[in-house]
Amino acid sequence: MSHPTRPPVTQRVRASRDRARSGRHSGSRRIRNAQRRPLTHRPRDSALDVVRRWLTTPHDFDWIFVHHSTRSIHGIIRLVFAGAVLLNATVSMLMLASPNGPSGTPAIVYVFLVLALQIAAMIWVLTGPTPDTKAQFLGFLIFGDVGIASVILLDTPTSALIGTFLFAINGALCTFFLSPRVLLAHLAFTNAVIVLIGALAYVQNLWGPWDAIAAVLVASGASSGVPVFASIAWSLVSTDAKASDLDSLTGVRNRRGLQNSVEDLWETALATTSPVVVVMIDIDRFKSVNDRFGHDQGDTVIILVATRLAELFDGHGVLARTGGEEFVAVLTDVDGDVESVVARVTETVHDRRDTIPVTASVGVAVLTPDSSLWSSGPGAIDRATRGADSMMYRAKAAGGHRLLSTFL
Ligand code: GH3
Ligand code: MG
Ligand code: MG
Repeated sequence: MSHPTRPPVTQRVRASRDRARSGRHSGSRRIRNAQRRPLTHRPRDSALDVVRRWLTTPHDFDWIFVHHSTRSIHGIIRLVFAGAVLLNATVSMLMLASPNGPSGTPAIVYVFLVLALQIAAMIWVLTGPTPDTKAQFLGFLIFGDVGIASVILLDTPTSALIGTFLFAINGALCTFFLSPRVLLAHLAFTNAVIVLIGALAYVQNLWGPWDAIAAVLVASGASSGVPVFASIAWSLVSTDAKASDLDSLTGVRNRRGLQNSVEDLWETALATTSPVVVVMIDIDRFKSVNDRFGHDQGDTVIILVATRLAELFDGHGVLARTGGEEFVAVLTDVDGDVESVVARVTETVHDRRDTIPVTASVGVAVLTPDSSLWSSGPGAIDRATRGADSMMYRAKAAGGHRLLSTFL
């Protein structure tokens, strides 16, 4: 069905190409990519693609450790750390007690020193704040790897080879919280120690050459294979989990992504006693865009609006697409400039030079720092969202293309 005001396809394509060239719409490349994105079928990656992506995707420590769903296991992580240090400390003590353990004063003093450090680390892990930075996890790994290697190498090679099992705990630490590159560095170190142990056993005539090679291969395969496989599987699962917070059409958050970010925003607002501002944006008469220009052009408009809003709100909070042509932004006014940002929403959505110009009805609810709603915790944001929603409907009822606000 054509419409009298609809410009010919070639003219629209030329116009959008010109805009893309002039860079007036910074979201233009994203729009073209989205149009090419298949709707139902996602081609399967080859094993090589998976490994390449595993090695090259930047590691997002914050997302893995601070993400909503992993927060609840922080207590368990603390216990696992403490348990790992306790195991290492117990091994150190048993080695000191064993007649085959370290001999000579320097070696015994060294193991005592490591033992003291392990006990201090355990107390710190159990009583201090939960480790929450990449540097702390890296420090824990280096302390563990160097501590284990230096202590087990003081024992006989046969016992030392058994001791290399302790490296597996550090491998698990790399798998979940550190990057694949750090994991590979850890494995290079542990394998060097394993080869050294095999060589020492051979030189000391404890094992023949074939036994030594077999022992090195078994220890190396067991300590490297499991973490590498687990790390690849974990990176695939976490990439998908991360994507499940995003809207696949526009790349902004979806409803779930918004829910997962609200707690952080709430904490930021509380810590800085800043207002929380909820903005609800609904494109006016969008059904007629689909009817007149087709669903694909409708998608393009949604992506363009999302891109412009994301740019407008960048650095102030989060933006989500919560319905077909409906967006919600939750902002914290830390720098006191959110009012001017929000005032620009309607003009940001509407550009009369667009191929398909659209307008939006915008509802805003401001949770002021002295509001009584703060006592109800992050749930107050739900209350503010309902306030913004009813303001948006009022703006729509008044003819659209306007912004109405309320203070809570
Ligand atoms: P109002 O001014 O009252 O907001 O009217 P409206 O037409 O914008 O709103 P309504 O809720 O009646 O219709 C929304 C339309 O958005 C209906 C649906 O076809 C369309 N839509 C929903 N999701 C998508 C999408 O992902 N892509 C496209 N192209 N259209 C969508
Ligand atoms: Mg609408
Ligand atoms: Mg709607």
